[in-house]
Order: sequence, then C-alpha cells, then structure tokens
Amino acid sequence: MTTRAPTIVWFRLDLRLADNRALAAAVQTGGPVIPVYILDDVTPQNGPNTDTSGTWPMGGASRWWLHKSLTSLAAGLEQLGSRIILRRGDPCTVLAKLVEETGAETVVATRCYEPWAGALETRVKAALEQSGTAFKRYGGALLYEPEQLRTKAGDPFKVYTPMWRAALASDAPKQPSPAPAKIAAPKSWPKSDVLKTWGLSPTKPDWSGGFSETWTPGESGARARLDRFLDEALVTYNEDRNRPDRTGTSRLSPHLHFGEISPNACWYAARAFGSGKTGAEKGLETFLKELVWREFSYHLLTHWPTLPTTAFRADFAHFPWVEDATGLKAWQKGLTGYPIVDAGMRELWHTGWMHNRVRMVVGSFLVKDLMLPWQSGEAWFWDTLVDADLASNAASWQWIAGSGADAAPYFRVFNPVTQGETYDPDGAYVRRWIPEIARLPTKLIHAPWTAPKEILAACGVTLGKTYPKPIVDHAMARDRALAAFKSLRASASA
Ligand code: FAD
Repeated sequence: MTTRAPTIVWFRLDLRLADNRALAAAVQTGGPVIPVYILDDVTPQNGPNTDTSGTWPMGGASRWWLHKSLTSLAAGLEQLGSRIILRRGDPCTVLAKLVEETGAETVVATRCYEPWAGALETRVKAALEQSGTAFKRYGGALLYEPEQLRTKAGDPFKVYTPMWRAALASDAPKQPSPAPAKIAAPKSWPKSDVLKTWGLSPTKPDWSGGFSETWTPGESGARARLDRFLDEALVTYNEDRNRPDRTGTSRLSPHLHFGEISPNACWYAARAFGSGKTGAEKGLETFLKELVWREFSYHLLTHWPTLPTTAFRADFAHFPWVEDATGLKAWQKGLTGYPIVDAGMRELWHTGWMHNRVRMVVGSFLVKDLMLPWQSGEAWFWDTLVDADLASNAASWQWIAGSGADAAPYFRVFNPVTQGETYDPDGAYVRRWIPEIARLPTKLIHAPWTAPKEILAACGVTLGKTYPKPIVDHAMARDRALAAFKSLRASASA
C-alpha cells in the first residue's frame, strides 16, 4: 500500500490488461490504481448531433458480450491484487463523484472514436480539470490514429489502397506491451454496482445459448482465438477467407471491438508467426490488410462523423428506397427463400456473428433486391452482432449500398444463387443453418425453387410451407435496382 493519490483507470472499449497504455501509465505512477467501468446508456443517444450522427445505445448482442467481458476483466484484475468498480450513468458525473470519494488526482482512459465519445472526452476533461484533476487520454484501439495518415495533399483518405500504402510507409505500429505484474490497491475501495443487476444478459427469453456455445469473451478467449487462427488458418487465409463453410478467418472482430486484444498484438503476432514461413506470405499480407480495413473505417468515421446515418455520396440522398416492413421481417428472420441469405441471417441470430462474405450477400440482398435503405440493415446488425462496431458497420453498409467512400459500385448486384454456389460449393453452410432443406442435392441447394417436384417431395421440402418460396425474383429485382440507380444519376446530371 502506498500513500500516493490514486489514479482512476476508466475502462471503455479496452477491456484488457495487456498492451493497455492507459492502465500501464497508471501502474507506472507507483500509486494505487482504481479500475472503473461506467455503463453509459445516455451519451450514445444524445449526440453530439443526434440528427446526423444518430442514436446508438449498445445493442442486445453487445450487452451479452459486455457482461461476459467485464466478468473476465474482473477476474484478471483480481489475480493482480485489484478489482473493477462498476458504476452507471453519465461518465462526467460518475468520474467527478469517484474523484471526490477517492481523492484521485488523475483519470486515465483509452481514446474512443464514436462521435459522441470524442465529445464526451472533451466534457470529462473540462469537468475534471476544473476541480484540479488531470485527465489523460491514450491511444490503443488502433494501429494508427485517424489524424496520423494523410494523403499527399494533407487530406484524410477516402480510398483504402493509398491508405494501406501510407500505413506501410509510415512508422511501424507500436510494439505491444505485456500486462502489469501487479496493480497497487487503494487503502479502501469505493462502492461498486453488482454486475448482475445491470441486466445485460437476456433472461426472458434467454436467446444466448448459441452465443455461449460459440464464444469465450475476455482477454484470454481473445488470445486463444488469435493463437488458434495463426496455427490453423493464417497460411490458408487468402484462399479460405471467403468460404463460410470453413473456419477460414480469425473471428477476432468482437474481441477487437471490445478491446480485449489490441490490433498491435494481432499485427505483431501474425507477423512473427507468418514472416519467412513458406506459403504464409499471402495469407499474412491479406490478414494485415484486413486489420487496416478496420483502421480505414475508423478513419472515415473520425473525419466524416455522419457516416452512420448519411450517405457519404451526396447524390444518394435522393435514392428511391422502398418501405417494405414484410420484406424486412423476412430478411431479419432468414425467411427470404434464398438459402445463402437465410443461412447468414440465421447464423447471425444464433451466434451473434456472420461470415464477411455472407454479410456482403445479405447486405446486397437488402439494399438491392429489396431496395430497403442500408440504414435498416445497419440498425439490425447493430442490435444482433456481437462485433457491432459503429465505424466498421457504417462503412461496410455504405460500401454495400454503393453510397460510401471507396464503395462497391451500385451496379454490382450480388446474385444470391451464384454466390452460394461459388463460396459454399458443397452446400455445407446452408445445410448447417437451414436444416429444413438439408436433404436437397448439392446442385439444387442454393435454388430450391428450381428443384423438380418429386425431388422436393423426396427431400421433405414443401416450398411455401416448410421453406419459403423466394420473396422476390432476383432478375426482376436487379433490373429494378439498376433502373433506380440510373434515375438517380439522371436526376443528378439534370
Ligand atoms: P478476419 O477476416 O479474420 O479479419 C481480421 C480483422 O480485420 C477482423 O476481426 C476485423 O476487425 C477486421 N476486418 C476484416 N474485414 C473487415 C472489413 N471489411 N471492414 C472492417 N474491418 C474488417 N466488422 C465489425 O467488426 N463490426 C461490424 O459491425 C461490421 N459490420 C459489417 C457490416 C457489413 C454489411 C459488412 C459487409 C461487413 C461488416 N464488418 C463488420 C466487417 C467484417 O465483416 C468483419 O469485421 C469480419 O467478418 C469479422 O470476422 P473475422 O474477425 O473473422 O475477420
């Protein structure tokens, strides 16, 4: 025990002990450290510009993850002689009160990038400094701060590839640091909420069974996921990452979102594992590039904070989206009649995650086949994904819609049948998630409506009863979407 004033570590999306610069700085003072997590459901709903940056309280799947991740963080802290203090409310008020209760002289935190988070940091700093308490903010969620990489003209990047090149040409990301060996405790601990009382995990009904089977939230779960990916999938990543029927990707996204592992730890572990290993060069490079796609999303969100709600390309403001509550429901429930779409939506519902290739297919189906606004897909993903991330979700939906920076052109309409046949060639992914059509032969599984009646009957499938007929004809829908896009361009040039 020391006599120095304590330092409060305000944990946010950095729920880890290793490579946590804010925590390391607090430990380095040699004084007592008070780790705190504040559940704040209000700030994400209030700004800074609710009309343009939206209201984003944490969704159901994220709340499930948060409960588990905080449990894991608390256990990790206890092993180092510390604990986590849980409080709820506006962080500005909560931190000021904690400072008063504990006599802390400094509050440290890892920077967050959501538009409301930046505004909150400014408010917290002003409020704390007014009472003579220092507020220090550290990086750690990204390899490169969004202000660090610029085009030659000094502007933020709107296109990914030049940003990737700029990243390679700039200083290497910081090397990750290990967790502290010990964390000094204060003389007495402030009161903490009991995690269970926050009601983060679902009870009635409890829909999280598939989540628990799939995930181990927390720092050691994250590290195990990374190690397994390196051992089993990095070498084949370049070929397998588009195959939803294989475990060809890392599935690190929720761990990265909650900061249970730093991107720097992933970057350097992958490089250490893959560099010089025959056959691993391509997989390694592609994996590092994906980590930089994440950076690109944060870069866009930081420089264009309206990204989650407003089309990046101004002409899309007039796109003739349709209102179709029935279509949206069918998409959400995985009942569109297109097996690869339905499999993805059911994987999402069951596990809180969906393979990237399938995210692109279901996204294209929503905005192009159903012509529903991309924001309705973004909102569903926000509630149901365990990796729901404001930057990556918004940037990816705008990419799919064709309205984003460096987006897929709107006229690129994914054909759900050929996508299924190409990326799930044996139908294993579809069979796993849509048992009612599992007995169909492989050559028909991605288009059950083309199966002869006798085959459907022999496989126990009655279209329209046991599995839906397609809710929209893809060829018609494609033409409709392209016509809408043309009308947009015509009105822009008129
Ligand atoms: P890996 O292939 O192992 O990649 C490693 C890491 O790189 C990922 O964990 C992720 O952090 C990052 N990454 C990979 N691809 C992308 C990408 N296209 N954009 C940004 N970062 C990427 N990702 C989220 O983390 N949160 C979201 O809310 C999210 N919403 C999406 C919505 C749509 C419509 C689409 C098409 C993609 C979305 N993505 C989102 C991006 C991507 O699908 C996931 O990051 C990826 O599927 C996670 O799986 P993984 O960890 O196995 O990825």
